[in-house]
Amino acid sequence: MNIILFGPPGAGKGTQAQLIVKKHNYFQLSTGDLLRKETKKKSELGLKIESLISKGNFVSDEIVNQLLRETISNLKYRDRIIFDGYPRTIDQVINLDELLNEFNQKAELVISLSVPREIIEKRIIGRVTCEKCNMTLNEFFNSREIELHPCGNQHFIKRKDDNLTTVMSRYDIYKKTTQPVLDYLSKNLRFYEIDGTQKIDEITAKIDGILNV
Ligand code: AMP
Repeated sequence: MNIILFGPPGAGKGTQAQLIVKKHNYFQLSTGDLLRKETKKKSELGLKIESLISKGNFVSDEIVNQLLRETISNLKYRDRIIFDGYPRTIDQVINLDELLNEFNQKAELVISLSVPREIIEKRIIGRVTCEKCNMTLNEFFNSREIELHPCGNQHFIKRKDDNLTTVMSRYDIYKKTTQPVLDYLSKNLRFYEIDGTQKIDEITAKIDGILNV
C-alpha cells in the first residue's frame, strides 16, 4: 500500500516517514530530500534547484516528476512508498495518479499531520539534520540527543531554507496552494488526520494503529 504523508513544513512528516520505514519496511520518497541531493552535485540543474529552494519556491513539475518516476518505476519499492512532500498542488495530484497508474499502483492512504503556525516556526528554526544518516533533531528540544548522536554531533547541518523569512513564505504557499489538495485527497482516499503537536512516539503509535488495521 502506498501512503501519502501530508502536512505543512515542519509538521514532522520526515521524522515519521523515517520511523515507518524502519518499522514497516517502507521506502521514504521525500521530494525535498531528492532535490537537496541534486543541489549537492553543484551541476547547472543543482544550482537552479538550490536558488528556488532557498527562496521557498516550488521546483518545476518537470524536474520533480523525473525524480518521482525513478522511484515509482523501481520494482523494489512497489506498493511500499511513503510520499513525503508530494503532492503539493492539484497538478501534482493528477500527475501522481497517472504515474502510479502507469506502473499498476495507486496511493490508498493519506495521513495528515496538523500543526499550527506558531509551533512550526520553533520547530523549523531549530531544525538540524545529520548529513550522514539524515536524522532530524531540534537544537532547542534535543540538545542531549544531538550531543550523543552515534554519527557524531559535528555532522548536523541546518537547511538553508530554514530561516524565518523563508519559513513564512513556505507556510503561506502551503496554506494557499497545498492545503486545498487535502480536500480532494480526503474525499477520494482513505484519510486520517493526526494532531502533529503530540510527542513523536505518540504520533508514531497512532500511525502504527492505522497501518495495522
Ligand atoms: P521539504 O523538504 O518537503 O520541506 O521541501 C523543501 C523544498 O523543496 C520546498 O520548499 C520546495 O522548494 C522543494 N520541493 C519539495 N517538494 C516539492 C514538490 N513536490 N514540488 C515542488 N517543489 C518541491
